[in-house]
Amino acid sequence: MSSSEPSRNFLRDIIDADLEAGRHDRVVTRFPPEPNGYLHIGHAKAICIDFGLARDYGGVCHLRMDDTNPAKEDTEFVRSIQEDIRWLGFDWGDNFFFAADYFEQLYEYARVLIRKDLAYVCSQTEDEVRAFRGTVLEPGRPSPDRERPAEESLDLFARMRAGEFEDGRYTLRAKIDMAASNMKLRDPPIYRIRHQTHHRTGDDWCIYPMYDFAHGLSDSIEGITHSICTLEFENNRALYDWFLESCDVPTPRPHQYEFARLALNYTVMSKRKLRRLVEEGLVSGWDDPRMPTLSGLRRRGYPPAAIRAFADRVGVAKANSVVDVALLEHTVRDELNRTAPRAMCVLEPLEVEITNWVEGAIESVELDNHPSDPSFGRRTVPFGPKLFIGRRDFAEVPPEGFKRLAPGREVRLKNACFVTCDEVVKDADGEVVKLLCSYDPASKGGAAPDGRKVSATLQWVSELGSRTAEVRVYDRLFAREDPEGGEGDFVEALNPDSLSRIEGTRVEASVCTGATGETWQFERLGYFCVDPDSTAERPVFNRVVPLRDTWKSKGSTKSKSKSKSKSKSKSSVSGAAAAELTPWTGLGVSVEAATVLSGEPALAALVDAARAAGAEPKAAANLVANELVRELGGRGAGGLPFGGSELASLLGLLDDGTLSGKGARRVLAALIEDGGEPAAIVDRLGLRQLSDEGALAAIVDRVLADHPDEAARLRDGENRLIGFLLGQVMRRSGGKADPKAVRRLLVQRGSTG
Ligand code: ATP
Ligand code: MG
Repeated sequence: MSSSEPSRNFLRDIIDADLEAGRHDRVVTRFPPEPNGYLHIGHAKAICIDFGLARDYGGVCHLRMDDTNPAKEDTEFVRSIQEDIRWLGFDWGDNFFFAADYFEQLYEYARVLIRKDLAYVCSQTEDEVRAFRGTVLEPGRPSPDRERPAEESLDLFARMRAGEFEDGRYTLRAKIDMAASNMKLRDPPIYRIRHQTHHRTGDDWCIYPMYDFAHGLSDSIEGITHSICTLEFENNRALYDWFLESCDVPTPRPHQYEFARLALNYTVMSKRKLRRLVEEGLVSGWDDPRMPTLSGLRRRGYPPAAIRAFADRVGVAKANSVVDVALLEHTVRDELNRTAPRAMCVLEPLEVEITNWVEGAIESVELDNHPSDPSFGRRTVPFGPKLFIGRRDFAEVPPEGFKRLAPGREVRLKNACFVTCDEVVKDADGEVVKLLCSYDPASKGGAAPDGRKVSATLQWVSELGSRTAEVRVYDRLFAREDPEGGEGDFVEALNPDSLSRIEGTRVEASVCTGATGETWQFERLGYFCVDPDSTAERPVFNRVVPLRDTWKSKGSTKSKSKSKSKSKSKSSVSGAAAAELTPWTGLGVSVEAATVLSGEPALAALVDAARAAGAEPKAAANLVANELVRELGGRGAGGLPFGGSELASLLGLLDDGTLSGKGARRVLAALIEDGGEPAAIVDRLGLRQLSDEGALAAIVDRVLADHPDEAARLRDGENRLIGFLLGQVMRRSGGKADPKAVRRLLVQRGSTG
């Protein structure tokens, strides 16, 4: 997957449509972290989406601290968030903001709502509010304060701000609909009293706005066009729109879009839980190399390019799934294989003395810094009579199949020479402490004299050319795939063996530069980077990833047991391995969509049936994994009243321009309820787009005639105007025109003008 060609996803489709229709003339996104912890790999996905879209569309992405809750926020977190985003390779330019800086404007917006009788000061306690809210099946009951006159609310609200009341005494609530089926609309609180010092505004305020109120209005204040967040905010979108509408904010208004949040197996991904690990000393800090935080991954040695590539491979789906952490490791390995120079390292050193070495025999050895990329150059490492090999590369009594060094056996020391083990030296306990070996001068450089074969080539370091170091080897922080899924507390799922410290390792002196973060492949062992705990006397290396790739090698053995876990909205607890996903990713669908399909046999069967009925495989897979799963809203896909041939006709209608994406979703919803023929549903619901060239051309020409100025400029090649004119045509057609066809026509009119 090349990084220059961004993968298509539904967000890009939305932005394309908005730009085409002239709803926006540029793209402004934002990344809005709450500064109450360090960023994690899940945030990295959001960052890559928010900043990536802005970059690809020539727009900007704002960094906004969503700091409306004074309780847990801290400037330490603000600093770390900035550092982590820069490290990932993104830049907000001058667009660094704090929601807290809008407190005054937000307060004024709240007063607008009160004056319009769309908000009231309420004296109910939290418990009363909950009791009055009703349930999904029953409507709520109005607060006794719901009809409080605006004047009175304005006065109370001012006194709330002035600090007259204690915490919890009053809230300001939006007056929306206590019977709304979306519970979020049942008069949500928009301000509460909190006598607490804020990291930015100090004690200026003792009332703080709630997320739903503050977020959309902050977006509007900043001129955000596309406000992208994770799926759990889907029900909040109605509120987002309600506040913008009710506060009469200027147009064009921002819109909220939701994507699936990243979840990884063997990982917890909530700041609250990560904070617990830090506070309870279960890890060494936010940057512990086992943590999924960006600072942890950085210290571990994960390159930012690998994290970006991972986010791209995972894709942007509309249904939650659990991605196998082995894919992340695989992506890191891929990147480091290209970028990390090689070095030799001996984990448990065993001394080798070359008994026939004489001054000037072999003083040094030349090695490639990279096996396949000559631009890395070569290096010279010292050789001498005293060397080290790995203890496991020697066996006094070699078991069957053991190819490496043994008494009387000859092996090659990489790029140096052939040696034969003549004698084994032991200590008082009978432990092997040294091997006495002789070398063959004719094998200098490691080439075989007289075509002689040896059964192994060993890594080695010389005493002169190596240093003693500590190596830290990490395993997964959690022993269970789903740390949060079990009975007890998630910390019980911690892996007791997630860190092993190996002392006394010998590494090539050339890698002991002490430059934190520098990464090598220690041949045969894995990728290692310098930890900040390193000192000149005592280098410390972190193992970034081992060489063995569990993403590729893990077969589909798991898939059998997995189908037992009847998946609800989260497709499955277990992350699917590469082998299970390949049939889907091979079609070009994202890893997340593939995970959804591989975790739910009924969905996979539906895609197969649609393919059999002639549907294009990738389109069918995307429609099922994203749109259908969303429309099902957590219901299973078994026993649906339609099958593959209906899906295939639906895709046909999308493809020939009869249906828009939005229309297709409505057809899907109807299919789920009652089944039926897609074409008939389209007609029944009046969803047919106008794509008849003749009819469209007539509208286009009428619009051009009504806007002679713009029409002339279009003919002069001002293609910018296509968006505006397209918007006019859409309006004239009552939203029914197929925007793709209209665009084609406008381009034609421009070029033939
Ligand atoms: P957490 O639950 O880990 O504390 P959060 O959602 O509370 O995360 P925020 O600081 O509010 O953290 O998140 C900032 C942005 O990052 C939001 O837009 C949020 O949707 C997004 N985000 C958070 N977690 C993930 C995730 N796992 N995958 C993708 N995006 C995420
Ligand atoms: Mg949050």
